[in-house]
Order: sequence, then C-alpha cells, then structure tokens
Amino acid sequence: MTESSPKLPWHPIPSSGGSTCKVHLMQAGGLYIPTDMTFLPGPDTPNDSVNPAGATNSSKKSFYGPDYVFLIEHTASGNKYIFDLGMRKDLENLPPLIVENVLPQFKCEPKSPANILQEHGSPEQKPEKIKAVIFSHVHFDHVGDGAQAGFGKAEMWVGPTCCTYARPGYPVDPKAPTLSETLPVDGSRRIFESYISDDVLNEAGDKRSGQVMEGMVKGKYAAIDLRKPEWIGLGAFDRAYDVFNDGSAYLIDAPGHSSGHQMMLLRVTSGSPTDTFVLLAGDGFHHPDILKEPRLTARPPYSKSGMHADAEVAIDTIYRTREFAEKKNMWVLAAHDFSVGEGIQPGAKEIEGLVEINGWFEKGWKKPFPSNL
Ligand SMILES: [Zn+2]
Repeated sequence: MTESSPKLPWHPIPSSGGSTCKVHLMQAGGLYIPTDMTFLPGPDTPNDSVNPAGATNSSKKSFYGPDYVFLIEHTASGNKYIFDLGMRKDLENLPPLIVENVLPQFKCEPKSPANILQEHGSPEQKPEKIKAVIFSHVHFDHVGDGAQAGFGKAEMWVGPTCCTYARPGYPVDPKAPTLSETLPVDGSRRIFESYISDDVLNEAGDKRSGQVMEGMVKGKYAAIDLRKPEWIGLGAFDRAYDVFNDGSAYLIDAPGHSSGHQMMLLRVTSGSPTDTFVLLAGDGFHHPDILKEPRLTARPPYSKSGMHADAEVAIDTIYRTREFAEKKNMWVLAAHDFSVGEGIQPGAKEIEGLVEINGWFEKGWKKPFPSNL
C-alpha cells in the first residue's frame, strides 16, 4: 500500500512548555455524500460514474457524513474559538449555483452550532464569547450562515488565497459559489487571511504564486487583513504557524480541496508519557478509507467528478495528513469522517451537545491506524 507513497519529511512538533488547548467536538448535523464523487473501487481505478452502463445506478449511492465543528479554548488565556460552522439552516438562501447544482446531489441535515452552544454550553461557551471563527475553507457546509447569528462580533480567519475564491460572491457575481455578505467589504467585520509570500510559493513550485496579488488588482482584498506569520515546517507539512506563540495550536496550509483550505493542530495534553494532539483536518478527505489509501480519491479521469478543486494537490495533502494519523499520539479529525463519531459513541448517527475530546487517547477513541482489515 505504501509503495507509491511519497517520501515525506517529518518536522518535529516544537515543545510547548506545557501549553495546551481544550477542544470540544460538536456535530452540526450532517449530509449524504455521493459515493462516486468521493472514492474509487481501487487506487487509480475507474468507478461506475465513467461507465455509461453503470452510471445511472451508481449515481444514486451516497453515504452519511457528519458535519463536525470544534470549540477551542486556549487554556492559558481562556480565549475561545470555533473551527467551522457547518451548514446554514435556510439552505434555500445559498447562492443559486449551490441550490441548483449541489444541493440536489447532497441531502443536507443542518444543525446550528450557535444553537448547540446556547443549549448545551456553559455561560463561558455561549456564541457571543467566541473571539474568532476559523474556517477550514468557505464551502457551504463549513461556512454556516457566515458567522452571523450568535457570532456577529467574532473575527473571521481564513486560509491562504481564500478570498481569491470567496470574493466577490453572489450576487455581485451571479454564478459565484459563495455569498458576498459572508466576507463583507465594508469593514464591518475583522477578517484575517493568512498570507504566504510569492517568493516562498515560487520556491516550492506552488501554482498559487501570484494569486493574491492578482486578487488585489481585482479588488478581492477590500477590508481583509493579510496576516503574515512566520511559517515553519510542522510534521509532514511544509507550512504552519504557531497561533498563540506557545505551541498549543498551529494553523496549517493544507491546499487542494478548495482555495484557502487549512487544518489546525491542537496540543490537548502535555506531559507523560507523551503530549497528545488532535489534527482538525477539514475536508482534506471525506471517508476514512481514503486516509489509509489516498489514491482512492475520486477524480477525473477515474470518475466523472470529485470533491477537490485540485485533486493531485489534495492527494499530496492527504499523504501528509496520513503521517499524523500514523502517530499513536495524534488523532486526525476530518469534518465528515464518520469513524470519528464511531470512536466516541459507537452506533450513534448524531452526537449531541459538546463532547470534550482532550481525553481521546486514554479513552481509546481513535481507531487503530492503519486498519488491518
Ligand atoms: Zn465539507
């Protein structure tokens, strides 16, 4: 299985001197994901969507993916953050492109994280206490209502090049996949986008070089604060930064799925026998089998369509993510990976309320990886 795997670096995770974050998982509903858009029957092996005889039947198959979001408390400061917001309840108010082309393929069951926090959170966990909403990316099943209900005063943090995709949004661009109102241009929200310089991107042979400058020329960066962190190698990833400057949390550049896609590594325990971590992996992959074998990722020409904007880059990102999953002290949590919930609460389709996940290691919530099956 690993024969074709790329040789990847492992940049040791810097020690934190004891700093950690407290992390709660919330299930903001879920959605049924078309199987043929997600995986292949074998590595680089065509599925039925490219076979005219099988396409009709196969197009109806789907599997349930939860929509996980995470409440993050930086233990030292008490500041709170939320990573992703799931889907808005009024799906009909999404841009027409999504309503007409995406919703018919994905049966969606939204649940508002603001409501979950209101109902189940402590006074300190109420939505208005959230300092920033961090988006893995701005697809409709992660951006919620654009952090309006409950999170209206929170900062919004997006990943590198996000605004080249998210702006101008609908209705300014009638065919846009995002809403203009999500990232207002009038300065009414504090919005931060992490920035990687073109020099760094050029050196890495990364085709995103020049995109932000081009976006600026087109006016896509109005009222955006570009955050220019000190990027470091982290684990198998080439670029991440220390969010709180104490080693408790890192935001990771994890390209391929959608412009601005980022992951977050959180140190949840510190000390003996080892520090433990969770990697919030967003939409790096959509099914646990793909993390074990990234070349099962559905993409043309092996399938009619796929889940990733740039499938080859996305597969590279999955290989890097897999390196974390192979470490005993790290648990990878992708937004739609049903194996996460099976570990926490076997047999439950939907996990209620807030589940603190700092104790995952002792509780044995991570499934053995790779699976022997
Ligand atoms: Zn998603």
